Amino acid sequence: MPSDSMPALPVSPDSAAAPSHVAANQDIESTLRENRVFPPPEEFSALAHVKSLEEYEALYAKSIADPEAFWAEAASDLHWFAKWSKVLDWNLPLAKWFVDGKLNLSYNCVDRHALGALADKTALIWEGELTLVDESGVGHSHIRKLTYAELHVEVQKFASALKALGIQKGDRVAVYMGMTPELAIALLACARIGAIHSVIFGGFAAQAIADRVNDSQCVAIITQDSSYRRGGEIPLKTTVDGALLLTPSVKHVVVYQRSGTPVYMQAGRDHWWHELTAAADPVCPAEPMDSEDPLYILYTSGTTGKPKGLVHTTGGYSVQTYLTTKYVFDLQNPNHPNDVYWCTADIGWVTGHSYVVYGPLQCGATVLMYEGAPNFPDFSRFWKIIDSHQVTIFYTAPTAIRAFIKWGDEHVEKHSLASLRLLGTVGEPINPEAWMWYRDKIGHNRCPIVDTWWQTETGAILIAPIPGAVPTKPGSATRPFFGIEPEVVTREGEKVPAGSGGLLVVKKPWPSMARTVYGDPERYQKTYWSDVEGCYFTGDGARQDADGYFWLMGRVDDVLNVSGHRLGTMEVESALVAHPKVAEAAVVGRPDDLKGQAIVAFVSLESSVTAALATASGDSVANLAALKDELKRWVAKEIGSLARPEEIRFTDALPKTRSGKIMRRLLRELATHGSIQGDTTTLEDFAVIAKLREAEEG
Ligand code: ATP
Ligand code: MG
Repeated sequence: MPSDSMPALPVSPDSAAAPSHVAANQDIESTLRENRVFPPPEEFSALAHVKSLEEYEALYAKSIADPEAFWAEAASDLHWFAKWSKVLDWNLPLAKWFVDGKLNLSYNCVDRHALGALADKTALIWEGELTLVDESGVGHSHIRKLTYAELHVEVQKFASALKALGIQKGDRVAVYMGMTPELAIALLACARIGAIHSVIFGGFAAQAIADRVNDSQCVAIITQDSSYRRGGEIPLKTTVDGALLLTPSVKHVVVYQRSGTPVYMQAGRDHWWHELTAAADPVCPAEPMDSEDPLYILYTSGTTGKPKGLVHTTGGYSVQTYLTTKYVFDLQNPNHPNDVYWCTADIGWVTGHSYVVYGPLQCGATVLMYEGAPNFPDFSRFWKIIDSHQVTIFYTAPTAIRAFIKWGDEHVEKHSLASLRLLGTVGEPINPEAWMWYRDKIGHNRCPIVDTWWQTETGAILIAPIPGAVPTKPGSATRPFFGIEPEVVTREGEKVPAGSGGLLVVKKPWPSMARTVYGDPERYQKTYWSDVEGCYFTGDGARQDADGYFWLMGRVDDVLNVSGHRLGTMEVESALVAHPKVAEAAVVGRPDDLKGQAIVAFVSLESSVTAALATASGDSVANLAALKDELKRWVAKEIGSLARPEEIRFTDALPKTRSGKIMRRLLRELATHGSIQGDTTTLEDFAVIAKLREAEEG
């Protein structure tokens, strides 16, 4: 999708002549047929916001007939200092939503509840990764809770502290922290005074921080001494110190003390969070912001290339994160006053922005935040958390689900999980068999699953089932959210017939759409608005079935071209994952003189299978070779001999972004050249690439 990421794939003979990186013949063939359908459980629907498919369809039709009226009605649920004069001002690709309206997202997340009926409701439940040991040697979970009233106090104090440092409306502030309540407070405090936050995921190195800080000339960095992950301490402040050598725009650094480990503090520049807030004015009214005032900058995951700093503004983003959270997660539902909502995403990613902080807090929900890793101190940490806090709504990523499957069911089965009523996924297409596992092992066949499709650029969910209303199909993000018109088209913008693959586009503007790429409006226009005329191009391939359901097929940049047939990665990978021994798979195309491309599959096996193969009597090399043949035959049988991988490579782990997405472009380079030249700054674990290369040479 982004033109700077890599040269176009040799997708078709005429693609070299095509003016853009999207090939002229853009249909993608679909081979996978998934026929299972799961209607929403009756008990769920009876108490849900939207109770039937008919109700969803009527609401959707109304929202499409008059989207401006629809979004205006949603906006009226929120607090506005001044009402908008016009809902939408659209001048492709430039949108303004709720023109002239004045509001503050921090006010809508916090004050509205703290000053109303929800003052004493728990807003945040936080669990630290480490166990606290008391004087008598007994271990306790490290838990902190804040009510909406308490959150109101903390946000105001920190907002005052930022102001006292001279930080003003419009200033850019970088946030580089672990998952702590203070991270949410930092965002809400920035939003309160109109400072534009730019959260940088706490796993990035000094250079990646410096690049992002310099791109938007941040005046301050909010960080913490260190954070905990998988039992280890991550020295955040020390990493920031490295970045600060390269970031002349930064005048102030605020350090939240999490671990107490001594860190370097430069006089005049570095300030302790607790000292600033102790001295701060406890009252800091929310600044009335214009609807189109920037709220934050956030860089994409970098799956396809160099990350883009997307800019989100205040009004439309507030309205759509609020409404999607309410309907897709069935929150703010008077029938479920005790919901405990847990989205496992890190706030370093858009999911953390929209569905850990801004969406659920606007809905007045109780939000759980967990500091650490799912496999610390053992593989059942998540399930213990669900039981101990009685989590009702659980939202995670396919990459995490595949890890749970790989680790083995025994870690899950020990736990009740009876409090859960709704499950969600986001981040990648979910393979149908992983979806089935999630439904069975975590949801006990009782909880609807909302597979939510969206992007950093879209700000909020665009395609997902409304859980009490829309029947689900494993592997499909199902139907569009209210007011959204996605379509699957050819490069010429023509709608492809039901069942055929093509480019996923969105035909009309939506409130939470990113307004630009920071400092690079041309890149915004070129990346998203020039491939398919008049439409927003998502970069993803998809097909729509006869029921109008959307099936995401993988990224268009990753499409395979075998003997003139264009195949999405998702379907071949799903066939592999459907094999009982396979936990995870990634497929890429390698140039092939005969076929155009040959499929190379990188496969990671379930832990129990790997262990069994290693100890099995006989020649383990022969065992592996036999399994490779078995998997090739399996794919051919499941979806056709066309998709049969030419080569299978077993690997312990796949290269992923720090947000957990498979980086197929690196695998493609490895399969093609045996080395990697592309941008690897967002790679999560460099050792994975080294191991893959070793395996290849060995
Ligand atoms: P970059 O744009 O830098 O390559 P990225 O696309 O990985 O990074 P994000 O905005 O975090 O950055 O991810 C959005 C992408 O994730 C979507 O375009 C899509 O490919 C994938 N995705 C997200 N949710 C789903 C889903 N439910 N089903 C299928 N794919 C999904
Ligand atoms: Mg993207």
